[in-house]
Amino acid sequence: MLGLYIHIPFCSSICNYCNFNRGLYDEELKTRYVQALLEEIRLAGNGESADSVFFGGGTPSLLEPVEVASIIETCRESFSLSPGTEITLEANPETVSFEKLVGFKLSGVTRLSYGVQSFRDDELVRLSRLHSANCAREAVGFARAAGFNNVSLDLMMWLPQQSVSQWLESVDSLIGLDPDHASLYLLELYPGAPLRGEMAQQRWSLAPDDDAADMYLEGMAKLDTAGYHQYEISNVAKPDRESRHNLKYWTDGEWLGFGCGAHSTRDGVRWMNRSGTEDYINTVKKRGLVPINRRKLTKEEQLEETLFTGLRLASGVDLGKISHHYGVNVWAKFRNELQVFLDRGLLSYDQECLKLTRHGMLLSHEVMRVFVGSRIR
Ligand code: SF4
Repeated sequence: MLGLYIHIPFCSSICNYCNFNRGLYDEELKTRYVQALLEEIRLAGNGESADSVFFGGGTPSLLEPVEVASIIETCRESFSLSPGTEITLEANPETVSFEKLVGFKLSGVTRLSYGVQSFRDDELVRLSRLHSANCAREAVGFARAAGFNNVSLDLMMWLPQQSVSQWLESVDSLIGLDPDHASLYLLELYPGAPLRGEMAQQRWSLAPDDDAADMYLEGMAKLDTAGYHQYEISNVAKPDRESRHNLKYWTDGEWLGFGCGAHSTRDGVRWMNRSGTEDYINTVKKRGLVPINRRKLTKEEQLEETLFTGLRLASGVDLGKISHHYGVNVWAKFRNELQVFLDRGLLSYDQECLKLTRHGMLLSHEVMRVFVGSRIR
């Protein structure tokens, strides 16, 4: 079934490491944007079945519950949302109150995903985040009190000045809050990120690469012990609490994206919406062409993506199915190169299933390079 992605590009302030499609919150702009979103969803709707809706951003929790309700309602009118559809809203801890979360719950949201990033205030300040660790704890409490039984927390590791033990403190704090799902990301600094300048000015440094590896392995080990299972390189969940929507990205699924800069993949065709907020609103208003860069993926690109995304999953990728679907015997073609990674303990291959080991997940880019581009043809 389809997934529906709704992009909300507004934030209260811009974090010093952020490279997403977002801008500063402006009430009047937000109101016009929500109207454009409703229109875009209505125009695209054809009654097809969908089983996930994901409000991503930006900071979707800056919307009012009544706005979220109208977007969900429009999705229901325009598509056929199956019973039990997973409806996720990304939220920043400082933007929610108990009352607002009750409103989101009543609007139909079933899952909250909080951008916590760290449970240490000094790290949050370095990242220019607006919330404190206590604010994040309180936000999780509000979510539970409002009746959410599916709450995810994001943490970032390998932060400036962060030691392995400080990182593990955050992991322990996360476990102490008992979320249903967690995502652990490595901080990635794009070339012009303001945080780079601050790091140089303040002489903040990153821990050595070996420590980054320890952060990942020891953090994941703690989560294993606490009863979470890792189902993707960066994601762990309690039983039955994997992100249904995000799994579509990793399992050859199909989704439609709405809003500025949103991506879609359907019937082997990929497109992206205009990324400027005003441009997007004006184009929807004029009934112009919102998607740009629409193109059919070649079979090779589809196969490459299936391998890349499949290898991100802890369950790995079924080369038997791939051979059946794409007519390519990946094992026979790349056996020699893959064997090197098998020998290093970074990959396993059993009953046609190719999987990264946890150590292999740390070096996934190296392994995935085997399948890049023309090599697959
Ligand atoms: S809140 Fe999220 S989307 Fe907004 S600026 Fe910070 S990192 Fe970027």
